[in-house]
Amino acid sequence: IDSEQALELANKSEINPLLLQNYVNGGFCRYLGPCIDSVNPQTGKTFAQVPNSSEDEVAKAVAAAKQAFPLWSKTPKSQRSCILNRIADLIAARRETFAAWESIDQGKPLARARVEIERAESNFRYFAGYILHDEGAARMTDDNCLTYEHRSPLGVFALISPWNMPLYLLTWKIAPCIAFGCTGVAKPSEMTSMSAFLLAGVFQEAGLPPGVMNIVFGAGLPTGSALVRSPIVRGVSFTGGTATGLQIRKDTIEDIGKHLSLELGGKNPTLVFPDADMQEAVKLAATAGFENQGEICLCGSRIYVERTVFDDFVQKFVAYVSASYKVGERVGAVVSLAHYHKVRSYLVQAEKEGAHFALGEVPVETPAGGYWIKPTILTGVSTSSVVMREEIFGPVVTIAPFDAEEEAISLANDNPNGLAAVVLTRDGARMRRVAEQLEAGLVWVNCWLVRQLATPFGGMKSSGTGREGGSYSRDVFTTVRTVHLPM
Ligand code: NAD
Repeated sequence: IDSEQALELANKSEINPLLLQNYVNGGFCRYLGPCIDSVNPQTGKTFAQVPNSSEDEVAKAVAAAKQAFPLWSKTPKSQRSCILNRIADLIAARRETFAAWESIDQGKPLARARVEIERAESNFRYFAGYILHDEGAARMTDDNCLTYEHRSPLGVFALISPWNMPLYLLTWKIAPCIAFGCTGVAKPSEMTSMSAFLLAGVFQEAGLPPGVMNIVFGAGLPTGSALVRSPIVRGVSFTGGTATGLQIRKDTIEDIGKHLSLELGGKNPTLVFPDADMQEAVKLAATAGFENQGEICLCGSRIYVERTVFDDFVQKFVAYVSASYKVGERVGAVVSLAHYHKVRSYLVQAEKEGAHFALGEVPVETPAGGYWIKPTILTGVSTSSVVMREEIFGPVVTIAPFDAEEEAISLANDNPNGLAAVVLTRDGARMRRVAEQLEAGLVWVNCWLVRQLATPFGGMKSSGTGREGGSYSRDVFTTVRTVHLPM
């Protein structure tokens, strides 16, 4: 179905909401337990009911994954690769349906949703190809002993994702998990479960054997927590907030062998040097700040500009953002009423602290209809303010001046997070000098959100542990032994 049909169905569903079902052992399960409302953030109307799965339901899904593991882990890579490609083909064939529901579920503009569905498709294609070409290292020792690395899939995985890029982030975990021969249970955010539900149908049609990937719906408590704590689960790949990541680490601390990959929050700096192409810098900083209404962990929400070009930058930036980031067009609604209130509370705080609203304002306390927040640009915020230190995860950026390169680096690094950073300059030596000193897992120079799926993705400091992508994902989902054979 296309976006108009999906919207019509969603609007009708207020009286008789769609009921999502868990996908376990290759089938959809009848569910009679408590549900969570799924709300369209653009209208504020409920359109679906999401199971809030209990520990028992999680245990059934984990058991199905455990049962499927021995056969799937021994299935030839070429066969696994074929199935992953079939999944990608089916996502491509249903791109419009996926995009329509992703937009209704998350609040993002349809154009943005389409980009993310394409990226979800490429997650499967990439790992389908990767496993066919992966080679382990073999060496001869001086005393004529052949040593080589032998990898095995680790086992059953818990795959947990947040609400901001629902299908893209969940498939970034599911694709490598099944490609490397693991089985698992995936749990999307309880706020955005629709695309994972559609994905389960794709698994069935693509011939993914029962139990290889199961999908359970529900909140962090009880569902997510039961999943990560299960002793059968050998690894957790989690993307979400830092506080949840910390909780998962505490909940699994006793199980030393459990692999933990945690992709957590960011409060990312964008550094604008005076030699940058100002018009390009404005565009890039705006995209990094406001794409997906600022609800991307990689968004650059702290902009630092060299003082001599500060006023000029702010003026051009405000003009560009007000012309290009219109609410309802390129800026979607924020994901939920609770999140609306969270973003609003930071703006109330900024107003109290005397910040200057170069664009935007404190939104109304009780939104009528959808959860819309205008792009907001703040100047005059102190570096010690929570507005500058904590992840807001909405369409809000701060702009502050710096005088020297060293100061820019130290301002950028003065935050507990270390996920991403953007450096805008035309000076080649500075590009490397600055990039290599930033405490960020991803540094983009004169660009943003460029992704190559082989490269390590992940954060420093509070932004996470471990990296995913290419061989880094292989390390998450497999375990390695070194074999020694005297010749
Ligand atoms: P969240 O941490 O509240 O929830 C993420 C997921 O964890 C959800 O599926 C939730 O149900 C589940 N969960 C909650 N408590 C749990 C528990 N105790 N045990 C197991 N699972 C639990 O995050 P959110 O609000 O959904 O997403 C926003 C956050 O995600 C932001 O901080 C953002 O920066 C971060 N994020 C990070 C990346 C990255 O790649 N580093 C990407 C996207 C989003």
